[in-house]
Amino acid sequence: IKKIAVLTSGGDSPGMNAAIRAVARTGIYHGMEVWGVMRGYSGMIDDDIFKMDSRTVANIIQRGGTILKTARSKEFFEPEGRKKAYANLKKRGIDSLVIIGGDGSFKGAQKFSNEFDIPCIGLPGTIDKDIAGSDFTIGFDTAVNTAVEAIDKIRDTADAHDRLFIVEVMGRDAGYIALHSGIATGAENILIPETKTDIEELVANLTEKERRKKLVNLVVVAEGDEFGGANEIARIIKERLPQADTRVCILGHIQRGGSPTCLDRLIASRMGYHAVECLMTGKTNVMVGVVNNKMHYTPLDKAVKAKQKISEDWFKIVKILAS
Ligand code: ATP
Repeated sequence: IKKIAVLTSGGDSPGMNAAIRAVARTGIYHGMEVWGVMRGYSGMIDDDIFKMDSRTVANIIQRGGTILKTARSKEFFEPEGRKKAYANLKKRGIDSLVIIGGDGSFKGAQKFSNEFDIPCIGLPGTIDKDIAGSDFTIGFDTAVNTAVEAIDKIRDTADAHDRLFIVEVMGRDAGYIALHSGIATGAENILIPETKTDIEELVANLTEKERRKKLVNLVVVAEGDEFGGANEIARIIKERLPQADTRVCILGHIQRGGSPTCLDRLIASRMGYHAVECLMTGKTNVMVGVVNNKMHYTPLDKAVKAKQKISEDWFKIVKILAS
């Protein structure tokens, strides 16, 4: 391995820059050339590739977003697109690739390395924390902390007016942001895609709290819950509990931005370092993850979106602590 290319692909997540920096600096430390690819697989196909040095990645560890930009590429789904991408790597002598992204990006990488002699390493970069083979993904901790900070602020105004707030956080397929931020902010109820919600129980619970004049009522909903997000839940609650002053707040994209937390910078740095180590030791076509605080390697085709079973304990905690 002499020349590594690095790219970010799919949805962005805070901490991607820290991972790019780690890959670049570790590669350069070992005497390799490191090349940056702009806009994910699109830049590989359009030949938007540049040589990085240590300075290229200076002063980015604390920045959200990704200096390499990210994109989704239709062309990369096609063999023709991947062939073009390969030719652009080959003409520079690039012999390996590090992909920071989600499971879709890993599928693309797996295909690419099956077709051409380019070993690939994946790093899980997604705020949703729903990839098999890692306890953490780059960006989750920052996103969940942003959600907590925002919900704390909502709680202040909810308290001042005795309002019931339905707060929607990100998570189309996974409820981790909702579950973690909901427990951390003392939500009454948390609605996530992994579990069915008993709407009657939810209404009864809120009615009972209304009766007791429990002051702050917060319900945290993942965008991909079975009802389709906060607006729909609010509609049902308003119908069933018209006396409550119910409001909706959708946190949206603020959860993707901002300076990465210490934890995200740390895992991004460790993963980026180990991505290069993997390439050097021939452990290729794997995703680098962290399991029980140890590095863990999952074949790229097994690093898929994982809908994990959420333990009943979590909901018991929500129920008891919000009573
Ligand atoms: P996120 O979880 O944030 O959505 P992701 O990596 O899963 O991130 P996708 O949009 O699924 O995001 O994939 C990113 C890109 O990877 C796609 O635009 C495409 O270029 C490539 N890709 C995804 N799946 C495949 C596939 N089956 N074959 C070839 N390329 C793929």
